[in-house]
Amino acid sequence: MSFVDNVINTTKNVAATAGKKTDEAIKISKLKLRSTQLNSDIKNKNEKLGALVYDMAKSGEKDTEAFDALVAEIDAVNTELADIEKQLDSLKGVVACPSCGAKTADDNTFCPKCGAKLPEKPAPEAESDVTVEDNKDE
Ligand SMILES: [Zn+2]
Repeated sequence: MSFVDNVINTTKNVAATAGKKTDEAIKISKLKLRSTQLNSDIKNKNEKLGALVYDMAKSGEKDTEAFDALVAEIDAVNTELADIEKQLDSLKGVVACPSCGAKTADDNTFCPKCGAKLPEKPAPEAESDVTVEDNKDE
C-alpha cells in the first residue's frame, strides 16, 4: 500500500467513526462561512448607504427610494445573520443571555455573569418558527 493510499484510508476511517461530529463540524464551518459573507455584505451595503447619503447631501436631491431599499436590504441581512448566530450557538451548545449577551452553556437556568434567567433550552431540530416578515409599504 502506498503512502497516499494509506493516508486516504486513514482519513476515511476517521470520517466514518466520527460521522456525527464531522457533520456538526461541516455545519458549523458552513454557517461560519455564511456569517462571514453576510458580514462583508453588510459592510458593502453600509458603504453604499454612506455614498448615497453623501451624494444626496451634495446634490440636494433626496433619493428616498434607493435609501429605503438599502436600509431594507441591510435589515434582511441582519435578520439572516441573527438566525445563523442562533444556529451556531445551538450547535455549540451555548445560549446568549437575553440581558447581558454573555454566551453560556444552554443547560444553565441562570446567566453566570449577570444572574438573569436564561431562555428554556430549545428542542433540537425545532427551529422553523424564526420567520420574521416585515410589512413593506408599497
Ligand atoms: Zn447575563
